[in-house]
Amino acid sequence: MLDRTLWAALSGESMMRHAILRGFRAQTLIFVLALLASWGTVYSPTSTTAAITSPRLATSSTASELLPGSPERGITVVLDPGHNGASASHAAEINRPVPNGRGGTKPCNTTGTATNGGYPEHAFTWDVAVRVRDALTGRGVHVVLTRPNDAGIGPCVNDRAAIANRAAARAMVSIHADGAAPSGHGFHIAYSDPPLNDSQGPPSRALADALVKTMRKHGFTVANYIGSHGLYPRPDLAGLNLAQIPAALVECANMRNAQEAELVATPRGRAQYAAAIADGILAWLNSSVAASGNRRGP
Ligand SMILES: [Zn+2]
Repeated sequence: MLDRTLWAALSGESMMRHAILRGFRAQTLIFVLALLASWGTVYSPTSTTAAITSPRLATSSTASELLPGSPERGITVVLDPGHNGASASHAAEINRPVPNGRGGTKPCNTTGTATNGGYPEHAFTWDVAVRVRDALTGRGVHVVLTRPNDAGIGPCVNDRAAIANRAAARAMVSIHADGAAPSGHGFHIAYSDPPLNDSQGPPSRALADALVKTMRKHGFTVANYIGSHGLYPRPDLAGLNLAQIPAALVECANMRNAQEAELVATPRGRAQYAAAIADGILAWLNSSVAASGNRRGP
């Protein structure tokens, strides 16, 4: 019993020594592993591999942005902000007749309308066009504007179409707002009809349809005073008649309607119009590019 007690005591001591030894070894092992791990984080080949693979990951991420989600990248679109800031004080220049695209003439340009509070259409169209440009540029689209600022005269409607045709753009979208009876409200999209070339047929109609869809999606209602279901095919707009690429004109609102006047005169309202138009252009570009390939020209 004593022996057993002694043995038990001895073996207990021995076990404890082993346990301490094992604990020491375990602690040492943990310490060495921790040291290796911390060394590895900073200096290990794993870290080097990460440094090498990071750019590769970034490249593949960029490449994925080019794939199905963004076929619009690198494509040119012309935005045509209606009217201009100095046109009203240069009546002779903007009243001179220019070709209307159907064998006749019409004035070079007009001054545009304004809200009853005095906010002019040319300022609205410029502001919205810049916002649309920024949205499209952010998606890799190359944007050409038909005027460089809101302080000039014209350009004439035929020159605006010529700018679009020269740019070999995939599409042209003109931006306007209407000046109708105060009870009228809502947007409408115009396109050349009857079409004068292939681009003015189904492609322009599809562009107009895409714009109607996204304007509605962004909460705007179709016009209650003109056109049908937000579409207004017409033969008399020279800029659309002379376009050799798909083209449409957005009449965003009736500036003489009190509610819409309030919306167009605020940056928040203009941002909403711009987002809807940019989405419409992108939607149309995506379907158009998917159908015909990512070419830079029309
Ligand atoms: Zn206008």
